[in-house]
Amino acid sequence: MILITGGAGYIGSHSAIDFIQEGHEVVVLDNLSTGHIEIIDRIKAFAKQKKGKFVDFVNANIKDVNALSALFKMYKIDTVVHFAANSLVNESVSNPRKYYENNILGSISLLNSMIDNDVKKIVFSSTCATYGEPEYMPIDEKHPQRPVNPYGNTKLAIEFAIKDYAAAYGLKYAIFRYFNVIGADEDAVSGEWHDIETHLVPNILKADKNKVFKLFGDDYDTKDGTCVRDYIDVADLARAHTMAYKYLLENESTIINLGTGEGQSVKEIFAAVEKYLETNVPLKICQRRAGDPAKLIAKTTKAADVLGWSSRVPLELSIKNAAEWEKVLKTVKNSPVVSKTHKGVGE
Ligand code: UDP
Repeated sequence: MILITGGAGYIGSHSAIDFIQEGHEVVVLDNLSTGHIEIIDRIKAFAKQKKGKFVDFVNANIKDVNALSALFKMYKIDTVVHFAANSLVNESVSNPRKYYENNILGSISLLNSMIDNDVKKIVFSSTCATYGEPEYMPIDEKHPQRPVNPYGNTKLAIEFAIKDYAAAYGLKYAIFRYFNVIGADEDAVSGEWHDIETHLVPNILKADKNKVFKLFGDDYDTKDGTCVRDYIDVADLARAHTMAYKYLLENESTIINLGTGEGQSVKEIFAAVEKYLETNVPLKICQRRAGDPAKLIAKTTKAADVLGWSSRVPLELSIKNAAEWEKVLKTVKNSPVVSKTHKGVGE
């Protein structure tokens, strides 16, 4: 059985969907601080429709050792896929305490509970933000890790903890460093849903004449002056976690970048969204956003060599799926909640 922490969030929910689709039994743990109970409802409905196995949803914090311990005693968890975290770079600068507490203390609590309950495999959601300002491109897994914000620092600290626990306690891990995640699953079960939306594609999709899309900086040293990123589809990304689960059954720990190996500028993404929508989106060129490197592109050969994984979903399809999800999201926000939540298991 798989435990997915943060399974009510954007990437975690897509991982739950993929594990269910592949026939695995899934338990989700989420405290709904940024995740949404409506997403849990939708995953459950999806599992029912696919005759998949959504076993339980536990509404608890990963820092709650009693809830974790009850969960590990109740369910025979084979692997933890760990997404639960705060992940806004700007917020991490203004409120580092929240990030150190939730990301680091939370992950340590989870790791301790895993070891205490003999759960020995983890797939961890890390980030290319652990690399910091790039020294060469494309960025491989051996690139120096010098994060430039507290968010990246906390993710790097957790990577260190996982490696040290692995050496001492026989934990096995797959650490994934994500590049820029976009899109939604093709059934629009889930998608990006942040109370404060900072990401590029949803912000272009949400723009209208009352809410102009702000492009942060067109004076970078790039092909068209706007920042270049490696945009990877969330369903592709989710699939890598399911593959890592299988990989860890027979292989040793690994650290892998997840991206496409291709770079798109903000202007190129903007044009692709406009093309899909068949409309002009109101745009304002603004100042650079603090902390944005000009260019981030993944070297993806290790994912292919080690896991046999590579991205499949073309950019246009990611944009289409993201746009479909935006429509669904409007109805989801007004729908009644069905799921009951419980804080611990066996209450
Ligand atoms: N961006 C933008 N306007 C927005 C959101 C993002 O111009 O409303 C730019 C941002 O400056 C960066 C790129 O889009 O160059 C990707 O930003 P995002 O926040 O999606 O991901 P990040 O690279 O920060 O992880």
